[in-house]
Amino acid sequence: MFRKGLALKKEVAGQLAADYHSALIDRIRAADYQWHKERLRVHLAREFGFCYGVDRAVDYAYQTRRRFPERPIYLTGEIIHNPQVNGRLRAAGIRFLSDPEEDLNSLGPDAVVILPAFGVTIATLTQLQRQGCTLVDTTCGSVLNVWKNVHRYARDGYTAIIHGKVRHEETQATASQVLQFPTGRSLVVLDRAEAGIVCDFIRHGGDEALFSARFAEAMSPGFVPHRDLQHVGLANQTTMLMTESLAIAEMLRQAMVDRYGDTGLDTRYRAFDTICSATQDRQDAIMALLEDSDLDLMIVIGGYNSSNTRNLARLARQRVPTYHIADATGLMSSRELRHRPVDTGQPAPGAVVAEARTVDWLPGERVVTIGLTAGASTPDAIVGQVVERLAMFAVEIG
Ligand code: SF4
Repeated sequence: MFRKGLALKKEVAGQLAADYHSALIDRIRAADYQWHKERLRVHLAREFGFCYGVDRAVDYAYQTRRRFPERPIYLTGEIIHNPQVNGRLRAAGIRFLSDPEEDLNSLGPDAVVILPAFGVTIATLTQLQRQGCTLVDTTCGSVLNVWKNVHRYARDGYTAIIHGKVRHEETQATASQVLQFPTGRSLVVLDRAEAGIVCDFIRHGGDEALFSARFAEAMSPGFVPHRDLQHVGLANQTTMLMTESLAIAEMLRQAMVDRYGDTGLDTRYRAFDTICSATQDRQDAIMALLEDSDLDLMIVIGGYNSSNTRNLARLARQRVPTYHIADATGLMSSRELRHRPVDTGQPAPGAVVAEARTVDWLPGERVVTIGLTAGASTPDAIVGQVVERLAMFAVEIG
């Protein structure tokens, strides 16, 4: 198992820079995060793009290819939620176990398997180890921190309530962590509405069969609502909206107080903020941009199944028209734009996300100020291509 890279960092640095770096974005950073051409102005968020965890995961994947040129290399699924990055890894001959033609059961000791930044479930890890595969673990330190907290909850008899997306790889891996402990239980809640149902059950009890049907996909095996909602601890998928996580923490705390009283609350309820600092920095930066600049619209760049990107778009949409595009091709023309509508739920892994088309997205006949940011799995090179496209439109519309 390789956990700290493969000692080839310098050797792959040039290739990584060629694939993901953008000199244009460097220049915009140096110019106080602003760019303009003709009547288009761009204000770039002060934190955007590749986070430390993604940077490291992609670096390790390149090192793995260099270190094992002759051996079959696999990823358990997408290394991060960015189609271009995944595409480059495919082009380098790395195979994806999530593809229908691949079979995890057939891997043997010659296989090298890269574990993604989100981590993998205990079941997958155990199977890969049993089959003798060489593993390259890129699980982000911030995800490991979440696991540490849910381990503590499980050990101490608290059910881990995970604010996250039940089909997201990270949340599935986190939920699986509790299964290592005899008293380990977990329940995933997506948002305030789902947390509200859990709070009602904590306060008043209810029909276990109905509750179990509602949360069938979200509960750990053998979950018994009456028994397992008496002691709860909150954790988050690292890329959720901080404001929503805090609201859910307060809802659960209040429900426990209403049911059992204030006395000894800490023996019934715990919370630990496990949103990672990179996610928080990007959410803070977009809020600062929305506060400080008079924006006409916002463009958020990132994979359509990237949780942190979608949350950035949700924040921006509260204030200005917001377009979540996967890459520069989303900017079809100065008239028409292809994007993922904000707030349309989590797609199943591998599912194709429906896009929308908007015409006349650029206000006409005046200076237009565009806010720009990118999710944690979007390289600078893609942000740079978006600005180049805007430059083309600026000339065109004059
Ligand atoms: S978003 Fe946060 S948890 Fe996920 S890889 Fe990046 S730094 Fe790690």
